[in-house]
Amino acid sequence: MKTVKAVSFSYKPTSTTKQLLETFRMMVNHAIHVCLDEEIKGRVNLRDRIHKEFKERYGVVSCYPYSVAEVAWSIVKKHKRWQRKPTADRLMMKMDAAKYSLNYSILSLPFKKGERLLIPVEYGAYQRSFLLDETLKRGSVTMIESTIIIAFWKDTEAIIPLIKVGIDVNEKSAVLSDGTTYDLSEVARLHTEYGLRRRDFSSRHSRDQRLKRMFSRGSREKGRVKQFLNRVSKQIVQKAKESRQALVLEKLKGIRYVHQKGNGRSRSSRRRIALWPFRELQHQIEYKAGWDGVQVEYVSPAWTSKVCHMCGFVNRKLKLTEREWLCPSCGATLDRDLNAAVNIERRGKIACLGEVRPGARSE
Ligand SMILES: [Zn+2]
Repeated sequence: MKTVKAVSFSYKPTSTTKQLLETFRMMVNHAIHVCLDEEIKGRVNLRDRIHKEFKERYGVVSCYPYSVAEVAWSIVKKHKRWQRKPTADRLMMKMDAAKYSLNYSILSLPFKKGERLLIPVEYGAYQRSFLLDETLKRGSVTMIESTIIIAFWKDTEAIIPLIKVGIDVNEKSAVLSDGTTYDLSEVARLHTEYGLRRRDFSSRHSRDQRLKRMFSRGSREKGRVKQFLNRVSKQIVQKAKESRQALVLEKLKGIRYVHQKGNGRSRSSRRRIALWPFRELQHQIEYKAGWDGVQVEYVSPAWTSKVCHMCGFVNRKLKLTEREWLCPSCGATLDRDLNAAVNIERRGKIACLGEVRPGARSE
C-alpha cells in the first residue's frame, strides 16, 4: 500500500523565487483560460495543447507546462459547477519528483532554459529524519510563499492487529476502550482565549473592516489547535503501532456537547466549539496511522453513548451531565466515555489475531 506524507520545510523568499511563483500562477491562469475557451477535457489533452506554446511564450523548461496543466485542470474540475470564472489566486508551484533534487539543504529546480534555481531550505530534526531515511522515496515538491512541501512516500505493509481499540472523542477528552484517556480541554481553552481576544480586538477596531476580517478567520487559533492535536494523534498512533492495535473511530456528524447550562462553567466558556477540531483529530490519526500501517475503521456513531457495553440496553433518557454509565437493566457501571469507546470498538469489523470471539474483552 502506497502511503504519502507531506513534510514542510521553510525557506527565505527571494526575488527569483517570487518570480517563479508568479510565472507559475500566470501560466496556470492562462491554461485555465485556454481550457475553458477551447472546451478542452482532461489533464492530458490540456497538457498537449499548451505544451509547445507555453515553453516558447514563457521561456520555461518543458516540465512546467506539464505541472501547470495538472494544477489548472484540477482547478477547472473543482469549479465546474460554479458560474464565476475559476482562477488560481494563491501563489504556488508544483513539480514532479523526477525534475527536482534536494541534497542536504539545497533544493535545485529547473526554471528557464539552461538555468537552475538553488534554494536553501531550513529544517529541524523532524525533517532531517525524512531526508536521511533511505527507505523513503520522494514525490512531488510544492512551493508556496514561504514553505516548501515535499511528498515522501513508501510502501507500507498493514500491521495485522492483535486487538481493536475504540476511540470516543468528546469536547473534553479522547477516551480509548483500553482505558487510556487523552485530555482535550486545551482545545476549549484555546477557543475561549482566542474568542476573548477577538471580542476585545473587534471592539477596539470596529471600523477597520480589513483587520476585522483578518482576525475573525482565526487562523492562529486553528494553528495552535492543530499543533496540540498533532501531539495527541502522534501518541495514539504510536501506542497503536507498538501494541498492534487497530483503531475504530466514529463517523462524526455531531458532537455531544458537555458545555451545558448548570455545569458550573461561565457563559463565555460555554460557547460552542466547532466540530472541526474533532474531525481534524480523526484526520490526523488516520493519516499517521496510514503511514505506520495501523489499520483504521469508521463505524456508525448512533447511540454509542446510550447503549450498555455489557447487555446492550438502550438508555434513551441518559443526560449529558451524567458522567457515569449506570445500566438500568443489568446494573453495569462504567465511565460514560469509556462505555461509548467500548461500544465503538465492538462495532469494528477488522479481524484481529488476539480476539477469542468477536468483540471479546479481557475484563
Ligand atoms: Zn446493561
